[in-house]
Amino acid sequence: MQLYKTQHLKVYNSLSSTKELFEPINEGHVGMYVCGPTVYSNVHLGNCRTFMSFDMIFRYLRHLGYKVRYVRNITDAGHLEGDADQGEDKIAKKARLEQIEPMEVVQRYTVDFHNILQKFNFLPPSIEPTATGHIIEQIEIIKEILDKGYAYEINDSVYFDVKKFNEDYEYGKLSGRKLEDMISNTRELAAQDEKKNPQDFALWKKAEPQHIMRWPSPWGDGFPGWHLECTAMSTKYLGENFDIHGGGMDLKFPHHECEIAQAEASNGHSPVKYWLHANMLTLNGKKMAKSTGNNILPNEIFTGNNSILSKAFSPSVVRFFMMQAHYTSILDLSNEALLASEKGYQRLMEAITGLDGLNTCANSDFDIKEWRQKCYDAMNDDFNTPILIANLFEGVKHINLIKEGKEQLSEEDKKILIETMNSFVFDVLGLENKNDSGKDSEKLSGVVELLIQLRNEARANKDFGTSDKIRDQLAALGVQLKDSKEGTTFSVSS
Ligand SMILES: [Zn+2]
Repeated sequence: MQLYKTQHLKVYNSLSSTKELFEPINEGHVGMYVCGPTVYSNVHLGNCRTFMSFDMIFRYLRHLGYKVRYVRNITDAGHLEGDADQGEDKIAKKARLEQIEPMEVVQRYTVDFHNILQKFNFLPPSIEPTATGHIIEQIEIIKEILDKGYAYEINDSVYFDVKKFNEDYEYGKLSGRKLEDMISNTRELAAQDEKKNPQDFALWKKAEPQHIMRWPSPWGDGFPGWHLECTAMSTKYLGENFDIHGGGMDLKFPHHECEIAQAEASNGHSPVKYWLHANMLTLNGKKMAKSTGNNILPNEIFTGNNSILSKAFSPSVVRFFMMQAHYTSILDLSNEALLASEKGYQRLMEAITGLDGLNTCANSDFDIKEWRQKCYDAMNDDFNTPILIANLFEGVKHINLIKEGKEQLSEEDKKILIETMNSFVFDVLGLENKNDSGKDSEKLSGVVELLIQLRNEARANKDFGTSDKIRDQLAALGVQLKDSKEGTTFSVSS
């Protein structure tokens, strides 16, 4: 029997602002769409946190036995600098500054994005569609919205008519805004602005002669508005009704609000049943921003090459740190917090290592099934990973007492303990039992130093066969020895 039949998951739906029982549209199947990155720079650590939250959600849904189709897009066109209808296309701007093709920008930063996610042990989504690969679908939606009368064409661009839409539907229901308030709080349209109202947003923008990224359309050469791609790709792959739409909290307005409006205007209904939003990451109590220098890239944490942290931290430690907060809470990254997480992570891994060898007795001193259910209760309560981790440490306490011979465990319970620990730590939280910057690298250094010593002894005895063998076999493993007057040093290629 599938776990989801007995474990009843509740999720916080941003649309109703309440926790709701999760009941997918088609039993046993879940369709989930998450807004992916705009690939014009190295992936931001805050974005990694958002994607990691949905990776954990994807993992838990699969663990419960659901067949999940997870779609996470790549935005490779149409995202303008102002996040609205003003400014240059983010990717075209980068291409101009670096004097390369926009698609080179896209390729470079898509590769970077995948590399970082792989280091963090993300599962790949089921489909990763791109905006430029779905221009035809986007044009079709614009035609439908125009046909229904909720958009207008002006100077070869097409805008969504928010005021007209709001007469028949409700604009602002996800973010809790009222159109009347938005209107009274905004400035008058600038004279050069061609929109009817400041709230209207672009579905299709005319490409100026210098704009490189352009496609033909019934309205002339141009490019799609940013909000449109997600409506096109989510409904193409998940259908007119699907279960979960996720993204960062900052996307709720206007991006997700506009997605709802576009879908309702073209199909008559919003496709999404549960809207889930992940909260942001701060650094030393302040918002992360490149412009203020209060910023750190994932690779700078892994290598220790930064001026903010005292040492390097492995991707697993950073992942564990992120899982220690609930995905809807703001999380603050600091040196102290990472040091504390590293200790916790090591304590957890030490307890898990050697679980197979635990001694067993006829009876157990603690109720393992109750403990397992507490782990599920935590996750069933809107994916509460901090409570789950607290429960896992309750398990660690018992494991250590059993190892010390102060508590007993039955053979049957041992199986449950190992299975539960492995499921939650590795399958659901996505942690890995390795620590690149901690104990493992210390052990590696010790082993290589020992081999260098043996090689020196061999050389002193003129046993060059052995000394060359040590050097060559280490090199084959990616460990280079370098001899100098001061002695032998080594470097490890990754
Ligand atoms: Zn989106």
